Amino acid sequence: MTIDLDFDRCHLWHPYTSMADPLPVWPVKRASGVMIELEDGRKLIDGMSSWWAAIHGYNHPVLNRAVTEQLGRMSHVMFGGLTHEPAIELGKILTSLLPDPLDRIFFCDSGSVAVEVAIKMALQYWLAAGKPGKKRLLTVRSGYHGDTFMAMSVCDPVTGMHSLFSGAVPEQLFVEAPACGFNEPWREEAIDKMRQALEDHANTIAAVIIEPIVQGAGGMRFYSPHYLRRLRELCTEHGVLLIFDEIATGFGRTGKLFAMEYASVTPDIVCLGKALTGGYMTLAATVTTGHVADTISGGNPGLFMHGPTFMANPLACAVAVASLKLLLSGDWQSTVWRIERQLAEELAPCTGMTGVRDVRVLGAIGVVELDRPVDMAKIQQAFVERGIWVRPFGRLVYLMPPFIIRDNELTRLTSVICEVIGAEYR
Ligand SMILES: *Cc1c(COP(=O)(O)O)cnc(C)c1O
Repeated sequence: MTIDLDFDRCHLWHPYTSMADPLPVWPVKRASGVMIELEDGRKLIDGMSSWWAAIHGYNHPVLNRAVTEQLGRMSHVMFGGLTHEPAIELGKILTSLLPDPLDRIFFCDSGSVAVEVAIKMALQYWLAAGKPGKKRLLTVRSGYHGDTFMAMSVCDPVTGMHSLFSGAVPEQLFVEAPACGFNEPWREEAIDKMRQALEDHANTIAAVIIEPIVQGAGGMRFYSPHYLRRLRELCTEHGVLLIFDEIATGFGRTGKLFAMEYASVTPDIVCLGKALTGGYMTLAATVTTGHVADTISGGNPGLFMHGPTFMANPLACAVAVASLKLLLSGDWQSTVWRIERQLAEELAPCTGMTGVRDVRVLGAIGVVELDRPVDMAKIQQAFVERGIWVRPFGRLVYLMPPFIIRDNELTRLTSVICEVIGAEYR
């Protein structure tokens, strides 16, 4: 092996790791379809879509072509004072896919930035509307919205490590996580705390931010669409903006193109990212309504005060256009339902195993929740030795495979998970 893993270990930070005592990393030579090939030639079936993103798998000829064709024209130009076809085309597709009033788009570089932009929009909206006292965010526990400071401030206060940064991270308002499961009959108590917080604090709250239907990295919880319907009513009633973070759920993962479609409600602002480019490049978007955009533009200074250097990067926009066209040209929804059925059937044997607290599936997301945190080093090793790429966190072992996965490949993922959890590699 020629790859310099020592350099990696000594000099390169990986997500959420110690530089002094890092967990092992596996060097990847190439990836194609659902296969990740390691430097030593071993091939792993991908169960993660590189964190929700690679919905069409890796090295897809259509996406490759979109990138190389755009590369021949320009990889980037500034978006200040200039514009280009890839951004306009992507904008048209997004506005056609989103519910009607959501048609004013701000392109940004990553999900966390999209959340920053959404929050900034909400704050500028209330400034322009003559209510400068509305500055706080209200959200639910067990959420995840990114790692920059404002985004972190609305992540779950415990797993988001607010205590570590107390004094530096803005203090927001939290209520309990939606307490009614996806398939459970609606109970109005499930939104009591949220209603109470809105009744008590609406005059200081700019917006409620929430991941619709699926709370992702904060705990992989699925909750009732009715919660969102009631939340929409309550936000309107109390004059508070509603922000949906669809960065993880967007583009088919939950079985709907956007998770908000389960509830048929429209937020004032939505954040998109992750699968937007099919996992090729970093790109995100914050989309709002004409009303919010016009209000901001009618205030002082009348400008929306954000503008990343790589805003609307043409390469990223071009591959996003190709990825969305590819998704919409196929029967993605039947594919996701098929994955859902198979995940439900094949993860069922985990139910009732020692150490397993819950097994749940929604769309192309399968979760096995354990009763205590996994031993990461041990469980990752066990998965890699058995030819699959699955990266748990905390008590959660979960799958969100590329949509192109075949039945037998998915069976390999689920059977290894059942085997490894059953054999107590956790
Ligand atoms: C991943 C994620 C983010 C942050 O996106 P980055 O691109 O990692 O900054 C925000 N919100 C949700 C729901 C996410 O899953």
